[in-house]
Amino acid sequence: MALELLTIPCRADNYAYLVKGPGDDEVALIDAPDAGPIIAALDARGWNLGAILITHHHHDHVAGVEELRARYAAKVVGPAAEADRLPPLDRALSGGDTGGEGPFRSVVIDVPGHTIGHIAYHFPEAGLAFTADSLMAGGCGRLFEGTPAQMWNSLCKLAALPPETLICSGHEYTAANLRFAATLEPGNQELISRIERVTAARREGRFTVPSRLSEELATNPFLRAGLPQMKAALGMNKADDVTVFAEIRARKDNF
Ligand code: ZN
Ligand code: FE
Repeated sequence: MALELLTIPCRADNYAYLVKGPGDDEVALIDAPDAGPIIAALDARGWNLGAILITHHHHDHVAGVEELRARYAAKVVGPAAEADRLPPLDRALSGGDTGGEGPFRSVVIDVPGHTIGHIAYHFPEAGLAFTADSLMAGGCGRLFEGTPAQMWNSLCKLAALPPETLICSGHEYTAANLRFAATLEPGNQELISRIERVTAARREGRFTVPSRLSEELATNPFLRAGLPQMKAALGMNKADDVTVFAEIRARKDNF
């Protein structure tokens, strides 16, 4: 990988990520749940934080922004559509906007659903996508603000990235997500083996993120709402993809 990637656990079950490019000033943080663990990770490596990339306005993704901005004089960027609910942005972003260059180049993808302005950051050269509470390991975020159609469309955009892309998502929810997935596809062999790997990882205190997009496509029920076998499992053979996605989301909300 062309970039160094660091996964930083924060709060009860959040993740922040640091990416380091070849240049000294090329250090970006994706989401700031809490300043303390991020400062510790930066200082241990002698890295200076250049930019804070915010995915959406929820407190558990922005609570550390002002302390980090002040300490490192970092530039803060985030979704234009949520600028009124975010700390002041040095640059407001929407889908298609780019930043950085070479391996450090990133492209913004609009992924509304969990919140109405949620964005993801794709680093195509590095093969990384920071998806926070849109596409998650084994699941997707709750629909607090958007519609099922919006979230399904967002997930389809992420599903179309190269399958080897590493999905860097916002929470350690994977074990519960996969327990739910198994209620829909109990015979999915790749799901069964992923559950074994995730169970072992959690027992040993390891993170289950980032995850490979190919693994999500094979096991994440929310990415599989358009497949005939998923529709059959739900008794929804004739339903369109959005209706099936909405049914899966509703079942998960009550799981
Ligand atoms: Zn959130
Ligand atoms: Fe969150």
